Amino acid sequence: MKKIGFIGLGNMGRPMAGNLLKANYEVAVYDILPEAMKPLTEVGGIACNNAREVISGADVVISMLPASQQVESLYLGDEGIMPTIDPSSLVIDCSTISPAISRKVAGAAQARGIAMLDAPVSGGVGGAVAGSLTFIVGGQETDLDKARSILESMGSNIFHAGAAGAGQVAKICNNMLLSVLMSGTAEALQLGVNNGLDAKVLSEIMRKSSGANWALEVYNPYPGVMENVPAANNYDGGFLVDLMIKDLGLAMESALATESSIPLGALARNLYRLHGSKGAGDKDFSSIQTLFTDK
Ligand code: NAD
Repeated sequence: MKKIGFIGLGNMGRPMAGNLLKANYEVAVYDILPEAMKPLTEVGGIACNNAREVISGADVVISMLPASQQVESLYLGDEGIMPTIDPSSLVIDCSTISPAISRKVAGAAQARGIAMLDAPVSGGVGGAVAGSLTFIVGGQETDLDKARSILESMGSNIFHAGAAGAGQVAKICNNMLLSVLMSGTAEALQLGVNNGLDAKVLSEIMRKSSGANWALEVYNPYPGVMENVPAANNYDGGFLVDLMIKDLGLAMESALATESSIPLGALARNLYRLHGSKGAGDKDFSSIQTLFTDK
């Protein structure tokens, strides 16, 4: 049986590690917040006191941390674990971070002969709990083959985007597009409502017309149109505005690094930043609707 060391047990990492335990892997866990480990030790996870302890004897190391800074510090910082990871281990970073930092960490792994994948996820907390996440993977195909059965215990779709860092690039492109289509959908719905249309009727018309998109299909931002979406629950739960702002910041960095033009992504970042500054940081990203609704 493979032994897994799992680092970062927040909204996503906790249910992901839980699904590995359900799949009968031996899972050692570590989070800087001791209380984050408790729900996992109750179902067979082995709590560790620090990151070095959690990787000791691990065949596979998985990290699920907030942002670039934490990932760089975990692997390459003064107390970083890269020098002590067993070269036969496979390392999978599932955090959404800057492609440049992802490549830097993967380069340090490669220098020690350690196989490393970037494998950011799509599907949110619901997907993490249900074990139906989409993994968007960067790294060598042969290393992905070694990781496949583990990823399948936490998700149902696995894409190989390309070399190291490519998983991050694909994830950032997807979330930038998502922010643009969500903002555009909210804007169109509000224009219709302000001109006397019923949001439900307009949504159905656009869903079957050339404006159809994922938000209209499954994640309508206008309250009262769909059940079981954050808009039906005061925009609680779901994918937080703060995380969308972070991902749009990564899109801006990636655009600057490659002199790419992202006018709509830049506008969406500013809209989300403005929205977050009004206290919506911990609301679902479909709450961008209220930026148009509030007069
Ligand atoms: P979170 O803030 O809920 O969890 C992060 C956890 O990491 C926390 O428990 C924190 O204590 C821990 N941590 C921070 N630094 C650490 C360190 N040095 N060592 C050990 N533990 C440390 O974040 P989340 O919602 O679980 O998201 C994790 C990543 O997944 C982020 O990069 C996010 O962008 C991405 N993501 C999140 C969602 C979502 O819907 N929440 C969806 C897709 C992708």
